[in-house]
Amino acid sequence: MNVNVKINGVSYSVPRNATILEACKAASIHIPTLCYLKGLSEIGACRMCLVEVKGARSMVASCVAPVNEGMEIFTNTPAIRRARKMNLELILSDHDKNCLNCARNQSCELQRYCREYGVEDQNYFTGKVNEFRKDNSTLAIVRDNNKCILCRRCVAACQVQQKVGVIGVNDRGFDTHIGCAFEKNLGDSPCILCGQCVVVCPTGALVEKGQTDDVLNAVADKTKHALVCTAPSVRATLGECFGMAPGTDVEGKMVAALRRLGFEGVFNMNLTADLTIMEEATELIERIQNGGKLPLITSCSPGWIKYCEHYYPEFIENLSSCKSPQQMFGALAKTYYAHKMGWDPEDIVFVSVIPCTAKKFEVKREGQSAAGVYDVDYAITTRELGKMIKRSGIAFDELPDEEFDNPFSIGSGAGAIFGATGGVMEAALRTAAEVILQKPLEVLDFTEVRGIAGIKKATYKIGDFELNVAVASGTANAAELLDLVKSGKETFHFIEIMACPGGCVNGGGQPTQPSYVLNNINLREVRAKVLYNADKDLPLRKSHENAQVKAIYDEFLGKPGSHKAHEILHTFYVKRGK
Ligand code: SF4
Ligand code: SF4
Ligand code: SF4
Repeated sequence: MNVNVKINGVSYSVPRNATILEACKAASIHIPTLCYLKGLSEIGACRMCLVEVKGARSMVASCVAPVNEGMEIFTNTPAIRRARKMNLELILSDHDKNCLNCARNQSCELQRYCREYGVEDQNYFTGKVNEFRKDNSTLAIVRDNNKCILCRRCVAACQVQQKVGVIGVNDRGFDTHIGCAFEKNLGDSPCILCGQCVVVCPTGALVEKGQTDDVLNAVADKTKHALVCTAPSVRATLGECFGMAPGTDVEGKMVAALRRLGFEGVFNMNLTADLTIMEEATELIERIQNGGKLPLITSCSPGWIKYCEHYYPEFIENLSSCKSPQQMFGALAKTYYAHKMGWDPEDIVFVSVIPCTAKKFEVKREGQSAAGVYDVDYAITTRELGKMIKRSGIAFDELPDEEFDNPFSIGSGAGAIFGATGGVMEAALRTAAEVILQKPLEVLDFTEVRGIAGIKKATYKIGDFELNVAVASGTANAAELLDLVKSGKETFHFIEIMACPGGCVNGGGQPTQPSYVLNNINLREVRAKVLYNADKDLPLRKSHENAQVKAIYDEFLGKPGSHKAHEILHTFYVKRGK
């Protein structure tokens, strides 16, 4: 059912249950928003989306006001422009305006609206200004409340979407600020470092702990061998840092850029995604056949691992002991590859480019040092790689497509889809089923575990065995699934959990997008499509058929699940407090 409305004097028919904001979007009119994120944060607090409605006594917040039959809406009157500008000036009156050295310079939504509404003359409201201490206490995320505009998007992400809830709104009135309970540092809270608060923050108030200078210096140090590998999802998102449309595959340009940055080896993490499958599928079969702890739960998402350690420690024994693909890569580089090249592992600087903030924590975990030094030295986000490329004067969009270096260049289609929710499950099923059945599968697509639903369940018949599997992404969904398992209402043999909703394509280290993109494009779906297209087009779609993975086992590890594989590729977890 539709209703008839007029927007700026033009008639439209719009859905009866639409908000004014949605009706304007349908009429190709962009209304500015700062606090609003569709389905997550709909609180009408920032007052940027104000519009005038004929007959109403005051301006209304279009993100929460519904349309009515015959409504006449005005979105661009002098009074509205004045109100929006005044809102921005009020925000800026208590804001650290150090844009030049802010991590969000040029991608900040506040900065953009100030530019659009002509807030230029520094003639803001004057008076007392808050001065907050910067919270630098975690290995992954920095919070600077001096740049916070109190939009509360981070709070919704942490409390609702992730069901972690370590941040909230503290104090009231002029003293209102975002913080942890009892003003604890984030590093002293059970934050899982997923970075979901970072990707929704419109300003520089929440950013990753940047390591770009360290990495560029390491690459320039000719006494070291700087090696880099890129996670499956980074090629699906890096183009966004250069203004390309979401869903652009830039694998070839990404490799070319890393080579021009000076790395001695540019490697493909899809290969260790395949290696993870070899180890994890072996672990699954072994646990099923020998009465091991079930369900087996995947371990490649460090945000999920930290969530499990803090909030569901009773499932620690269920976790696969496999290191994540990032850590497996660093471990191989400093053992197998170092030996091959005749290098001391101490002379290798291993860098991973990842969609994730939690991986900055993971590199410093215990049990992640196969060669006696950290497997991975630096984990940098997709955003940081984008900055390094820009800073180095590399014209990304003009680069030719290049290929990864051997002996770590090949990744299967199964490895490619690791970056989307359900991808690890599907990759593992392809290998586990063929190992059990001892013959090739006729169909490789396990479509029931694909898609962006928060929880997916399926039963697959493999020979005589019925395998029950489940997939959850976003830790609120993970909690719902684990509660089902705990209560005994449902039983599964194998569960995939990713901390970020939609999986790594939507990770906390991925390029930020302004709210008008987040509200109108399903980024998770669009980015995941890049990975499923790559899988579809590759001749090699199964991890166990990756020739370079086979060579690593033949030359070094023996067979999947061997003692040596356990020494190099597996780890352990610890119970942490809430
Ligand atoms: S948050 Fe935005 S407006 Fe504030 S200093 Fe950073 S770039 Fe400038
Ligand atoms: S990183 Fe994740 S858990 Fe930590 S505050 Fe942000 S959303 Fe919450
Ligand atoms: S930290 Fe960022 S997301 Fe959170 S309230 Fe402040 S500006 Fe909004």
